Amino acid sequence: MPPADEADLNDAPGGYVAAILDERWQAAWREQRTFATPDPYAETDPARPIRYVFPSCPFTSGNAHLGHARIYSVSDAFVRFRRAQGDAILFSTGFDAFGLPSELEAIRRGITPAEWVEQCCENFRRDFSALGVSFDWERSFVTCEEQHYQWTQYLFLLLYEHDLIFRQTRHVDWCDSCQTVLARTQAEGGVCWRCDGPTRFVPLEQWFFRATRYAAENDRNLETLTGWDPNALNAQRSLIGRVAGVELDAVTPSGAPAAVFAAAPDALAAAAFVAVSPNHPQLDAWVGELGDSEALRAMRSMGWRTGDSAGTVEVFDTGLTARVPGIECELPVLVSPIVDARHGATASLGIPAADATDATIAEKAGIAVPAEDARAVDVVTRPATRYAISDFSISRQRSWGAPIPIVYCPDCGIVPVPREQLPVVLPKDLRIDGTGRPLAECEEFVNTSCPSCGGAARRETDTLDCHVDAFWTWLSISVPYGDRSRRMFDHPETARWLPVTNVIRGTDGAGFVFDQRSFTKMLRDVGLLTHIEDGEPFTNQRMIGLVRFDGRKMSKHLRNTVELKEMLEQVGADTLRVAMLFSAAPKNDFHWTDEPIRRCAVFLEELWAYAEPRLRRWPELDASLRECIDGSDRLRRKVVTWCDAARANVTRALDALEMKHAVDGVMGLFDKLREFERRARAARGGELEAADEAALVIALRHLVRLLAPMAPHLAEELWSLCGEQELLATLPWPEPVPRTSAPGRAGTGSRPPGQAAPAR
Ligand SMILES: [Zn+2]
Ligand SMILES: [Zn+2]
Repeated sequence: MPPADEADLNDAPGGYVAAILDERWQAAWREQRTFATPDPYAETDPARPIRYVFPSCPFTSGNAHLGHARIYSVSDAFVRFRRAQGDAILFSTGFDAFGLPSELEAIRRGITPAEWVEQCCENFRRDFSALGVSFDWERSFVTCEEQHYQWTQYLFLLLYEHDLIFRQTRHVDWCDSCQTVLARTQAEGGVCWRCDGPTRFVPLEQWFFRATRYAAENDRNLETLTGWDPNALNAQRSLIGRVAGVELDAVTPSGAPAAVFAAAPDALAAAAFVAVSPNHPQLDAWVGELGDSEALRAMRSMGWRTGDSAGTVEVFDTGLTARVPGIECELPVLVSPIVDARHGATASLGIPAADATDATIAEKAGIAVPAEDARAVDVVTRPATRYAISDFSISRQRSWGAPIPIVYCPDCGIVPVPREQLPVVLPKDLRIDGTGRPLAECEEFVNTSCPSCGGAARRETDTLDCHVDAFWTWLSISVPYGDRSRRMFDHPETARWLPVTNVIRGTDGAGFVFDQRSFTKMLRDVGLLTHIEDGEPFTNQRMIGLVRFDGRKMSKHLRNTVELKEMLEQVGADTLRVAMLFSAAPKNDFHWTDEPIRRCAVFLEELWAYAEPRLRRWPELDASLRECIDGSDRLRRKVVTWCDAARANVTRALDALEMKHAVDGVMGLFDKLREFERRARAARGGELEAADEAALVIALRHLVRLLAPMAPHLAEELWSLCGEQELLATLPWPEPVPRTSAPGRAGTGSRPPGQAAPAR
């Protein structure tokens, strides 16, 4: 343990200099490898609980800001607490480094994306370490490392082999300015999330992820995920968008049989039309040659956009009609992408009398709405379910991403790169400046030989969207870094650490979670991770509210961030951590102001000023008095009661990630201890008895240990002032403070009250 540098501390006003404490204890933890992941092969206690805590990975698109500080402060307080509870802990993070955000930031700075990512990761590691986050950095990763993205490519091949990745021409959101396809969430309201330019819906041949494959299982399993918070569950429900209804047999205009979905089975009599998705796999059967008509193509090129509503979305009236046996009249056939948004790529019965959106569509198409009881209906139906979630594009016409391991051969067609040839390396010297398509223009990359026939062939020049990297970022941490070049999804340590015990992430990651859940089930179904029978990667999931600034989410994208480094320089790690925990319940958004910082700074400074001289007295106290609190006095018995209550409250709050209550518990105990001293002095004519002073210091030591998960640097310092040699971060969670049970028994051997050394 490094010696306390008293000169520095005492020179400063108030004697508490966070920067010195932060540096000293971070160095001590680093030197002693305090947060190294326990080696499973050295484990002697088979009953020791295993816990893997995974906070979401930052994008390398800017500097660390207070949004990160919040998630990592909450995660780290929880981890430090559970470590003290005896759990074997895996706790790390990695960097989501591929993709448009990193590329654009690099272009803005006039350096290559690889250079930018390296700088950015270094800054992140520095800032998170400076915040005192107890990550095991040896387990970290960067998604653009070759040994990492070879597994992303492996994953692509596996998914392709199992028809979970497929190629199709689809209409996609496209940004002219960024020259790329965007995910639906990146083009909300027809506006590009990065450049704020308009997006268009255009036809393009793309690689798609079959998100719909596991929609039903992912939806069903939500019932069993008892460790997830309601926000996390609701985000999944809303994304999956399950609609229960019935399916009935219809006859398309061409006379072919087809299934039609109805969300309102009780109102079939009032059916007015059939609405077909432009992405319906049997669109031809529904509309015949009209599928190629200018009108329909124009409508499809507009497509469904997230900002659309039933009132604004295009509806194409084919002029054709379909029949449903049991329903008297012919039903007009409409085509509209609103079907995708509501029920997926299917055909739906439009029932204006039962559904407001259907009413709007009927009005737009000028379709007469039949009265509900107009006709008797005897339709054969069967229960059916549809999901709003749709398959999505995973390829990008950009150069900063994992290359897609596919070769196009004039003779063999689409040929997957054999697994033993992975990784397909992204050329390191690409000049990426926002113009052209550097990867597609790189001849050495593009020209290759066909893995199947050996003839001349060309590589796929689209790269994988960083969404695909995120499918499995939570998994790689479970494998030791040194093993990752050779083994990943079948590494024995995946069985030890997975599923992730606790995921702690922002409220904006529902799409990632869905895909991570699908991916886990897919691995299970191909015989990997078979110990995760339900295919659920996360046992507990907690969503942490956003940090808002000026009424908006604090994010790099909006450029309204308060940088973590800047705050750390101003107030130090502990004040920032405690303020982050104290300012709002984790589930709530936190509207950033200086007030919590000021309040928590005052708390820590007062605690330091009060505890420092008293704890220094610890080694001098009579040994028998240090063993336990002498309960022969009513006031001292109260100290025991307060300590017990604080311990119970802080323990419960930390375990439940209710960090505000945990901070409250420690602040409350501090107030009580000062009150004890005032009252004891008053009762004893000004001077504390030796047993009073001992009780106070025992209680302060208890307080320091309860505070440690939240303000670890100050806690270590105060602990060391007692003459303790061991790092607080390595000690178990404190037991209840010891006290003598029978009044009058303790106190033997203590100094008579008159000779007690006064507490300073
Ligand atoms: Zn754009
Ligand atoms: Zn070939």
